[in-house]
Amino acid sequence: MEYINGTIKNEDISYGDFKNYDGQEISIHGYIHRIREMTGFSFVIIRTDKDLIQCVYAPEFSSYRWDEKLAEEACVKVVGKIASSKDKQGNDRYEVQIHDIKILSLPAETLPIVINKKQLDNIQLNTILDLRPVSLRNPRERAIFKLQEGIQRGFREFLIKENFTEIHSPKINFAGAEGGTNVFKLDYFGKQVYLAQSPQLYKQALVGVFERVFEIAPVFRAEHHDTSRHLNEYISMDFEMGFINDFHDIMNMETGALKYIMNLLKTEYKNEVELLKADIPEITEIPCIKFMDAKKIIMEKFHYTPTDMKDFDPKEEEMLGTYAKKELNSDFLFVTHYPSKKRPFYTMDDPSDPEYTLSFDLLFRGLEITSGGQRINDYNEQVAKMKKCGMNPEEFETYLMLHKYGAPPHGGLGLGLERLTMHLLGFKNVREATMFPRDINRVTP
Ligand code: ATP
Ligand code: MG
Repeated sequence: MEYINGTIKNEDISYGDFKNYDGQEISIHGYIHRIREMTGFSFVIIRTDKDLIQCVYAPEFSSYRWDEKLAEEACVKVVGKIASSKDKQGNDRYEVQIHDIKILSLPAETLPIVINKKQLDNIQLNTILDLRPVSLRNPRERAIFKLQEGIQRGFREFLIKENFTEIHSPKINFAGAEGGTNVFKLDYFGKQVYLAQSPQLYKQALVGVFERVFEIAPVFRAEHHDTSRHLNEYISMDFEMGFINDFHDIMNMETGALKYIMNLLKTEYKNEVELLKADIPEITEIPCIKFMDAKKIIMEKFHYTPTDMKDFDPKEEEMLGTYAKKELNSDFLFVTHYPSKKRPFYTMDDPSDPEYTLSFDLLFRGLEITSGGQRINDYNEQVAKMKKCGMNPEEFETYLMLHKYGAPPHGGLGLGLERLTMHLLGFKNVREATMFPRDINRVTP
């Protein structure tokens, strides 16, 4: 087999570039995604790291002869010529006329599910999750997590441009957990420690060092219920910033980050957006209402009687989503001034009405995706608030070093990556947007 000098490699170009290489030789490594035998020739679809490439085997293309061992999911290296042709609709398309196929490995068994259809049709979510290493090979499933990479990348790129420093806080903590019933306890050489529920206490400490910090990392919540929006381990995209004027600075930063992310998805994740039919929201400004006004809307416009006047239930979040879309033409809605009773001990109360806080949630298409707010930065105030919450400030000595030795006005937020992905893609269950979900019934694979 003679190869033309300077054979192009599939690592270097994508299918979209084939038009610039018509007639040239290319070497492609990947999986045999599908084989379709026709009369006198066969289509061999190769799945690369990013594309499905239609290759054609026919005896007239070279002296290479089909190896009967070739099967779907075999890893191969195909060498062939890029050639233009037409699809059924008469549009230009490119395929590769096979000159040679080298087998790199053969599967030991055939796949337990069909992955080479457009979508994993009629397969239950539980089966898809049980078989994740395989089901993710389906291009649509894979695209979910490629798009999710885009979200994280957008968050990171935007914040780095805004002078944030990327941090990684410890996930095993001795004391100083935020508390509550949803903390995982762990035996640590005979001592009881906790898995981090959020990077909150550390990111605040680091505001005292870097002024602006962010973290994209797993957090752990012992959620005891089986719901469609709770995981026991999820990726939290957090940031915290110092020297703010008020908590609107935080909301503006989040709005900027979301705009940047959506734009990045539209430009650099076009294939995934199309494949997933993702409805990327247009963001100009995100409307903002106060918590109690939101409750009024729920009662007056939706004739619903809330069971809890200090928080929203999922139905109420949906109503607010409908309201935001229909009346404010927005997929997003900031709700501000949550009741103090329901917010954590570090949240700053509204000086003009201490029953409420300088905090907010962001709802996206009727689902909470973010909680954030301004934090208490005065030492005495924070100590007093801890005591009021029944906490022992001595257990939080490290945390309180920030306040004791001088902290600027600051605040931040936590944004759930899987929840954002879920509603971006119109999924009903957060697990669909989670690579390897951990929930009350699942710790494998
Ligand atoms: P919820 O009220 O919906 O249970 P929360 O108010 O307890 O959420 P926060 O502590 O405010 O959650 O966490 C910040 C963000 O992290 C949430 O807005 C959400 O996007 C995400 N998040 C929180 N808990 C979970 C979870 N168990 N699984 C997936 N994402 C979560
Ligand atoms: Mg919250």
